[in-house]
Amino acid sequence: MTSPIVLAFEDAKKNIALDPETIETFQNRLKKNTTYLKSDGATDHFCVGVLVVNKKHKKIFIGHHIKSDHWMGAGGHIEEGESPLQTVIRECKEELGLEVTDATLFGLTHFDDVNRLKCSEHFDFFYRVDLDSLPNLTADKGEFHEAGWYSFDEVLKNKLLPKYRSSLLKVFKDIEEGR
Ligand SMILES: [Zn+2]
Repeated sequence: MTSPIVLAFEDAKKNIALDPETIETFQNRLKKNTTYLKSDGATDHFCVGVLVVNKKHKKIFIGHHIKSDHWMGAGGHIEEGESPLQTVIRECKEELGLEVTDATLFGLTHFDDVNRLKCSEHFDFFYRVDLDSLPNLTADKGEFHEAGWYSFDEVLKNKLLPKYRSSLLKVFKDIEEGR
């Protein structure tokens, strides 16, 4: 059976614009071995990032992450048998108390500077979740100093990993251009 991660990567190549370097980086990792998950014991593993946004108000739900000291949204490690989208749905529920049924893949990002216990590299599928309202979401107090809805300008003033900033900029640009 083909791994849900391989299938998601093939879909990404077909459906979203990716630069050749990113495609190569992900392809090389997928070829290296089939131990794709943290739970399999791989330190270079596949994850999801989730940006929860409200297009009308041009706001994003984001928090100040305790362990990394950077600002980021929900996300996490893909677990056994999950597709990246299923991880998004689970993480939204676990981390934000938010029930979602769908999300839009918009990018792939390789983080080679994770430096966490049992994590050396993260290969992230980045998804966007669009909400029509600005619900009072609950970010896990154990994971975030604070979290809330911020305007795009406010978010970009905060401490962000460079590649995370690029992902935010891509989504903000899409929204500004009506996508
Ligand atoms: Zn990890």
